[in-house]
Amino acid sequence: MLEYRVRGSSSVGRMSASQAEGRGFESRLPLHPHPPRGVTVRNQLVEISRRFAADNISPGTSGNISVRDPQGRTFWITPSGMDFSQLMETDLVEIDVASGNIISGDRIPSSEVPLHVLTYQRRPDVQGIVHTHSLFATMFSTLNRPIKAVHYQLARVGDEVPLADYATYGTQELADRATNALGLGNAVLLKNHGLLAVGESLGDAYRNALDVEWVAHLYFLGLQIGEPDVLTHEELERIRAQFKDYGQKP
Ligand code: 13P
Ligand code: ZN
Repeated sequence: MLEYRVRGSSSVGRMSASQAEGRGFESRLPLHPHPPRGVTVRNQLVEISRRFAADNISPGTSGNISVRDPQGRTFWITPSGMDFSQLMETDLVEIDVASGNIISGDRIPSSEVPLHVLTYQRRPDVQGIVHTHSLFATMFSTLNRPIKAVHYQLARVGDEVPLADYATYGTQELADRATNALGLGNAVLLKNHGLLAVGESLGDAYRNALDVEWVAHLYFLGLQIGEPDVLTHEELERIRAQFKDYGQKP
C-alpha cells in the first residue's frame, strides 16, 4: 500500500518504447525502455551504464543504476566506485528487495543500496532507478530550490522536481528522506548531493534523469536573465495526455 502525498499530479505521463528511443543526450547508443525479446535486464543495465558514461551525466564514478529483476523479488545494481564505461554483467550485484541482502555477485555493491532497496519497496511500479550527480540538477539541490516545469519536457517526471532534506550519502536516513520526498513522482533532488530518477522501465528512469538535467540547465539559463515562466498543472496534464499518442506507432 502506498501512502504518499502525490506531488503535482496523480497521473504521471507514460510513453511507449518507440517514443522513448533515440531521445536524449549525446550518445548514439540505442535506448530500449522495454528490452526486446532475448535482452535480459542485466544486458540492459550494462547498456544504460555505457550510455551513462558516454553522456557524461555524472562525474567520475559518482551515481549508480539498478533494475528490478523480472521475477520481482530482487534487483541488479552497479558495483561501487567502478568506471561505468567498462562495466560487464559479471560486475553487477543482485540484491533482495525485502531484506536488502546480497543474493549474488562478486563485487561490493553501490553504497546507495539502502536508497534503491527502499525505493523498490515503497514503489512497486518502479522497475528501474538512476542516481546521478548531474551538474545543473545538483546545483538546484544546493540552492534548496525545486526544479520548476519551465518546459514541457518535465511533464513525464511530474509538475516539478521536489527536494529531499540533506542526509549523508549511503545512509538509511538518505533513503527515508529521498523516498518520502519522491512520493509518487518520477524524480527527486537529494540536497547538496544529486538526483534520483525512477521509471516503469530502466530506459524510462534514464530518460527521466536526462530530461530533469536538460530542464534544470534551461531553467538555470533563464534565471540569468529573469524569472522564467512555469507551465501550469492543467497544461502539464494536457501534455501528459498528448504524449500518449506522441511519435511513431509500433
Ligand atoms: P557508489 O559508487 O558506491 O555507487 O556511490 C556513488 C554515489 O553517487 C553515492 O551517492
Ligand atoms: Zn551520489
